[in-house]
Amino acid sequence: MDSMQKIISLCKRRGFVFPSSEIYGGFSAVYDYGPYGVELTNNIKNAWWKTMVQLRDDIVGLDAAIFMHPQVWQASGHVTGFSDPLTECKNCHARSRVDHLLETIDIRADEKMTEEQIANLFAKNQAKIKCPNCGKNDFTPVKKFNLLVKSNLGNFTEDWNREPVYLRGETCQGIYTNYKNVVDSTRVKIPFGIAQIGKAFRNEITARQFIFRTREFEQMEMQYFCHPKQEMKEYEKLREARWQYYLDLGIKKSNIKWHQHENLVFYAKAAYDIEYNYPFGFSELEGVHSRGNYDLTQHSKFSGQDLSYTDPITNEKYTPHIIESSVGVGRTFLAVLTEAYTEERVKDEERVVLKLPMALAPIKIAVFPLLKNKPKLVKKARAIYNNLKTPWMCEYDETGSIGRRYRRQDEIGTPFCITIDFDSLDDDTVTLRDRDSMKQNRIEIKELVGVLKNKFL
Ligand code: ATP
Repeated sequence: MDSMQKIISLCKRRGFVFPSSEIYGGFSAVYDYGPYGVELTNNIKNAWWKTMVQLRDDIVGLDAAIFMHPQVWQASGHVTGFSDPLTECKNCHARSRVDHLLETIDIRADEKMTEEQIANLFAKNQAKIKCPNCGKNDFTPVKKFNLLVKSNLGNFTEDWNREPVYLRGETCQGIYTNYKNVVDSTRVKIPFGIAQIGKAFRNEITARQFIFRTREFEQMEMQYFCHPKQEMKEYEKLREARWQYYLDLGIKKSNIKWHQHENLVFYAKAAYDIEYNYPFGFSELEGVHSRGNYDLTQHSKFSGQDLSYTDPITNEKYTPHIIESSVGVGRTFLAVLTEAYTEERVKDEERVVLKLPMALAPIKIAVFPLLKNKPKLVKKARAIYNNLKTPWMCEYDETGSIGRRYRRQDEIGTPFCITIDFDSLDDDTVTLRDRDSMKQNRIEIKELVGVLKNKFL
């Protein structure tokens, strides 16, 4: 099994990620997060929020709705420009992204290419390409496929001319449309940022690479509003902060790299992605882009509202420029799991352990009575579990041998296990076992909270 298959299998086996609607045969490119998965995504979102909002004096949070006025997507350019080149197999009707098909014969569409150039490249090489679904070679001409997901919200009358209401294709539009509300209702002053975590939806043509590319996903985005002259300085600061964030998250330096966009959209000043070394190679984890004043200018034009900013000291009036950081929760999840997944030989046995940073571990502490049929052990273990579960996410487990219980916790990345044995009944001590070193220390029960607090600092 390759490492991606191992991670996918662990995610399913241990309740991190399930295919959506699995009892109905699954639903392509949509996934559900299971009991440990939801803990991990919550911890990822909390870590991001802490870095981007809690620890920053200049960034505030927001939670905009998924549905927005249809004009938003006109103004943003998504209705006309948010598309991928698509072809359909005439035999089995499977649809594929043309650049992905070209990759199957080792041709990478150059980033600088327009969609028309990609279509030409495909036409030239089409004879060598097989449909990934049925293996035939019979494709329709390339067409543009818009990625916005339409809904029928508000379609109470047969008014077919009306613009559809979309499920948002990115979360940042809710930040732009609320920029003025935030300025008017809080004490923020430029430069300042607005951060948001929420769902986004895209009609991705091909489902690939597990949770890396899904049709429903969560984004963590921060848009930073600044004076035009500050834009590049703030951009460099943001790039540095985002790089450091991944190191603090336990990602090895050698597993991330900057990728500079060569083909900038006309309004952008600079665009870099942070790529992570996934099991299938380096691919985009996060975008850090400098967007000029395009977003507010467009929304001002389409809404007719004045979205300029007046400096309270100099009285200078201008449309703020924006720099952004945008990352998917799912792509962070996959990066963090790739980084943490470890196979080790312990004596003659293989152990799989997720060496997750403590802040991200779904379960922080597991508590075990040595035997489940000894009421005194169970009672003591339960009392300790009840005491620890208020400050930390804990799990109580009394089934199977202690060795198997340790292995189960290793596989989900639990940093500490506590075992209550017969000595515990006499001397009020327990063993505290460390996930990574597997060392076991005897600790007095009354000292447990203090010792653990120090470890989780
Ligand atoms: P890609 O080129 O891989 O399709 P993108 O450049 O379109 O990504 P952005 O629009 O910049 O992505 O979105 C910002 C971030 O949102 C990405 O860096 C990624 O982490 C996440 N993201 C985008 N599309 C998806 C998706 N379909 N599934 C999961 N995460 C996604």
